Amino acid sequence: MTIKRFVVAGNGQDVPVVNEIMQLFGLDNGGFFPERLIPGDGSFATDTIVVRSHTILVPRFAILTELFYWREDGALACRIRRAEAEYADEDRAAAAKRLLKLNVLILMEKITSYKPSPWGILRGVRPTKIVHRLFDAGLGASEVLGRMTRAYAVAPDKALLVTDIALRQRPFLLAPKQAAKLVSVYIGIPYCPSRCLYCSFPAYILPNDRQSVETFLHALARDIEEAALLLEHCRCKVQTIYIGGGTPTSLADEDFSRLLRLVTAAFWSDATREFTVEAGRPDSVTDAKIAAMRAYGVTRVSVNPQSMQEKTLNHIGRKHSVRDIIDIFQKFRRAEIPVINMDIIAGLPGEDAGDMAATMKEIAALAPDNLTVHTLAIKRGSLLKANLADIPLPDENETARMLDVARQYVAKMGLKPYYLYRQKYMTGNFENVGYARPGTECLYNIQIMEERQTIIGIGPAAGTKAVWPGSWRLASVYNAKDVTTYIANLDSYIKQRRQLLANLFADGRRNS
Ligand code: SF4
Repeated sequence: MTIKRFVVAGNGQDVPVVNEIMQLFGLDNGGFFPERLIPGDGSFATDTIVVRSHTILVPRFAILTELFYWREDGALACRIRRAEAEYADEDRAAAAKRLLKLNVLILMEKITSYKPSPWGILRGVRPTKIVHRLFDAGLGASEVLGRMTRAYAVAPDKALLVTDIALRQRPFLLAPKQAAKLVSVYIGIPYCPSRCLYCSFPAYILPNDRQSVETFLHALARDIEEAALLLEHCRCKVQTIYIGGGTPTSLADEDFSRLLRLVTAAFWSDATREFTVEAGRPDSVTDAKIAAMRAYGVTRVSVNPQSMQEKTLNHIGRKHSVRDIIDIFQKFRRAEIPVINMDIIAGLPGEDAGDMAATMKEIAALAPDNLTVHTLAIKRGSLLKANLADIPLPDENETARMLDVARQYVAKMGLKPYYLYRQKYMTGNFENVGYARPGTECLYNIQIMEERQTIIGIGPAAGTKAVWPGSWRLASVYNAKDVTTYIANLDSYIKQRRQLLANLFADGRRNS
């Protein structure tokens, strides 16, 4: 079905909202509306959807949304007129936006064969943030569930999942007073042993020439030292440290050990609860690196096979075997690193539900403490996106079956979902879910997803997010993704980070 026009009547401020809706339905690519969105006076034309929304104040504040669909023959085929009261806990502008989206979704369902996403009108990366806001406002779990399904058109199983996850996260969220004093630190290492097919991150193969690596490590050391001075100045302590990337274990043994020494000296204190290192590629991990992780108090490592199928590892550009993954995992276990995470991806090229079952069988035998189940995202800048026509991908239904298989194994393994996020360009309308054996949840993953703690970013592509305790307002600054630009402009990134934290703590003093 093709609808020619989408007219937003009268109130021009609704245009961006309707634009969002068009993206929600995948309409911004032509799709239903070849002539795209037209702000106009709402006078009807054939084959047109007209949207009007008003704020009405009788008997109390409510938002009236009217939608009309005029068919090609000029007949009014569908009209939706709904006046809805705002919720006491919802910001007025947000309520207006939400209702407009919800009613367009209802109209689209009525007039097209469109099947809404299980996430309803939610497009954001972090649906659990809404659930936390509702719990903060005093709603109980069953009220939250009802609100997610009614106000956001989220499918009951997804509403249950996000509510369950948010409840599991609540004990780990910081009270405003704690959030004013405790931060997390992220350090990004931009190197990998090879480039994965689906990767859109600017991950570089570790350069052969020593000088380039030295120059990078020198800049990173300065970034670390400046961050430590800043935290001292702000009288903040570090709750969690996360070294990610890229693959930090790509560094040479000596450099890796020096990095861990520097990081612990700069950030470790009596308040530190967690120190994660991503060791995603077994071909980058050596006995010396495992010994360094033990020596410097690493509490969590992440071994990320993505699949335990040899054919898939080759296909996605890995330079290691399934046996390598098992060997490294067992070495980490013997070294008694307290928590081991594994990452897998549903929807990889050439795989089906049978492959997922075989992968999960191998993973269940290893019994990791945490498992993150991703859905493949076809990202711009990846080799996958560039060569999509030649790569056999499972369709949405098969990917759904793969996720089901993973969930069944995860339940048998005794792991519970504890964080969730969504990404652009994911296969289907699925999500990424992190599972943990209760008591081994990664605090950093919760803090980064729920945005209730300031996170200091160090290294290329890292962002510093300042979070205002209590209001949970957020402001960010980012370092360049590209290593050369990062090194050349390091002074300005350090200055921006300092200014951001100065603003945060100046406001904190005023409000205390
Ligand atoms: S390990 Fe991660 S960062 Fe490195 S190439 Fe693969 S997907 Fe990209």
